[in-house]
Amino acid sequence: MVDGRWSMVAGGYNKARAFVYSRLLFNNHRPSTIMFDTILLYHERYDGRGFSPLSDSWRRYRLGLDLFDELGLLERVRRVRPAEATETELETAHSPAFVRSVRERVAAGEGRFDRSTPIYPGLYERALVAVGATLTGARMIGGGEALHAFNPGGGLHHAARERASGFCIFNDVVVAVRALQREFGLRRIAIVDGDGHHGDGTQQELYGESVLYVSLHRYDGRFYPATGTATELGEGAGYGYTANVPLPRRCGDAPYLYALRTLVAPLLRAYRPEFIIMQYGVDGHYQDPMVRLALTTAAYRETARLLHALSHELCAGRLLVTGGGGYKPEAAVRCWAILLATLAGENPTPDHPLYGRLFDSEPAPEDPAAMDEVRPYVTLLRERLLGLGAAT
Ligand SMILES: [Zn+2]
Ligand SMILES: [Zn+2]
Repeated sequence: MVDGRWSMVAGGYNKARAFVYSRLLFNNHRPSTIMFDTILLYHERYDGRGFSPLSDSWRRYRLGLDLFDELGLLERVRRVRPAEATETELETAHSPAFVRSVRERVAAGEGRFDRSTPIYPGLYERALVAVGATLTGARMIGGGEALHAFNPGGGLHHAARERASGFCIFNDVVVAVRALQREFGLRRIAIVDGDGHHGDGTQQELYGESVLYVSLHRYDGRFYPATGTATELGEGAGYGYTANVPLPRRCGDAPYLYALRTLVAPLLRAYRPEFIIMQYGVDGHYQDPMVRLALTTAAYRETARLLHALSHELCAGRLLVTGGGGYKPEAAVRCWAILLATLAGENPTPDHPLYGRLFDSEPAPEDPAAMDEVRPYVTLLRERLLGLGAAT
């Protein structure tokens, strides 16, 4: 993919090129009607009850908005109130019978979709704006109205064609992929899923297609949803377009960042996406009660920085970011603010006068042996998918 001469200096060259491209975009190719590069999608229904039974987590959206405001970020991004997704739009990722059954079960008002996803009045309308927000972001970026968008209420990656589960009703990411394919004719869409859980619904729906799906998640054969092994690589025309990095409990930042830099980044460069979707679930944070990956804000900062840089390097900045997991509101919104500042062109670091307070001040309880578990999976995937050897 890179010719011999250039590959000699690929690291430095790519950085310089990304910078030049981003300057060109900002100065010459931006329609004059655009005021902001980055959109924050927010609907007032986010202030109400969420899909998970962890009621403490429902306040994370309002807490996030207040934090963005305090940091001055709402003046740096354009806030957009999304429209509800229509049933026709939902049916690009789900069967009509499933959509109808969700609507009818919510109207009946009780029960649960799975063990941990309860039905409550208003859930259907809440699900429509979660999907509508991701769709709005995809269309605004696809149509050139923005470079980046963040929907904290999206990333509902466990929802499958005929199934609502794991706090996910409808799969907004797949609906967005369908819109990008059908309305904008995109052929190379990459999804990077950094949530602590495997995105089984997203993977399942796209498994036979050349949409790149890369996921880093906790896996031990039992941890929910108990899918996402390194040997799941896609099927048929989709073979080689799925990559899963299983991570052990308490893995910590180092293996996560190792996989991101030595597998995710080269996969994206080889794939040459026209559009990148990042599922920025932050439930792997060490203060989060759900996943226990012992990640810190340093890992989320580097994820945001790298994906933002890659979007400019590879696809003119087209980057749509969804939320996902994150059940300790105070930790989740710090990670979100680091992301939003990065998308707005800032460089948040622990010693930054404004953004420094977003970073963790204590070490995470990580397992130093985790790197030895993760490295072979990364090597295997580099060999199978990229024809490369072990990374140093
Ligand atoms: Zn999750
Ligand atoms: Zn940017």
